[in-house]
Amino acid sequence: MAEKLPDVVMPACPSRRLLEGQKALVTGANSGIGKAVAIALGEAGADVVVNYVSGEEDANAVVQTIHRGGAKSYAHRADVSQEDPVREMFKKMCHEFGTIDILINNAGLQRDAPFDEMTLDQWNLVMRVNLTGQFLCAREAVREFKRRGVVKEVSCAAGKIICMSSVHEIIPWAGHVNYAASKGGVMLMMKSLAQEVAPHRIRVNSIAPGAIRTPINRPAWETPEAYAALMKLVPYNRIGEVDDIGRAAVWLVSDYADYVNGISLVVDGGMTLYPGFATGG
Ligand code: NAD
Repeated sequence: MAEKLPDVVMPACPSRRLLEGQKALVTGANSGIGKAVAIALGEAGADVVVNYVSGEEDANAVVQTIHRGGAKSYAHRADVSQEDPVREMFKKMCHEFGTIDILINNAGLQRDAPFDEMTLDQWNLVMRVNLTGQFLCAREAVREFKRRGVVKEVSCAAGKIICMSSVHEIIPWAGHVNYAASKGGVMLMMKSLAQEVAPHRIRVNSIAPGAIRTPINRPAWETPEAYAALMKLVPYNRIGEVDDIGRAAVWLVSDYADYVNGISLVVDGGMTLYPGFATGG
């Protein structure tokens, strides 16, 4: 049993920037959603480690943007699917920033193929980055959250993790079986972990984005024909922008969401509302 913790609740009118004084690590933060989340956390007052595996210049540009807003930041190269580099990344963060309060498990990739043509390498790479990578980073974060515990001047919680999942933790996706399986795995990893560490006042949630305009899905939005086809799947009738996810992430890791634990926050313009049934099915 975890020790009995005091009932720390957020003051009714917090006067500080939402994440002032908090230390965040965002994986895959040199591009797309991770970049927007890193910048949004910085704007909310958090100091941010910008993880990347390739694209150092882009990572440094994100760091500069965060600096301009007044928060601390540095870029750190590490492949999230490799145990030693992940441990080294957290060790360095605790040395530079003292601790970690927020982990955004964002790094991910696709290697699409018809199922009977999918190679073991394609399967393994997607699992290693999208699922094992989230495990390795979450494990290091939980170790530090448990070691440090709640610092009530900083946050009601001892730590917060967001797993970047996808609507494909719910919606099956032909031609992308490895990706959908990895995100389904993320969903139950997140929920099981949330259940396990909640008594330590650690919150673990996912964001499940729908179609967001980033390099990962360029073919789905870059031509007018592709965009029109995509909109048949999105009742809100616009593609998601990375800032839609950045704002959701700031809320979810803030004390405004202190009683939110173990959920997938779907941010998808209604993609999971079975749009095919909009006209009666
Ligand atoms: P993106 O390609 O722009 O970003 C992915 C990032 O992950 C890149 O910075 C990439 O370098 C990094 N990365 C890949 N392998 C890595 C590794 N081994 N170690 C460290 N970093 C690594 O794509 P994105 O759309 O911004 O994707 C971010 C996350 O959002 C992914 O987990 C993706 O599955 C999820 N997602 C995206 C969408 C969408 O529509 N764009 C929808 C649902 C979920």
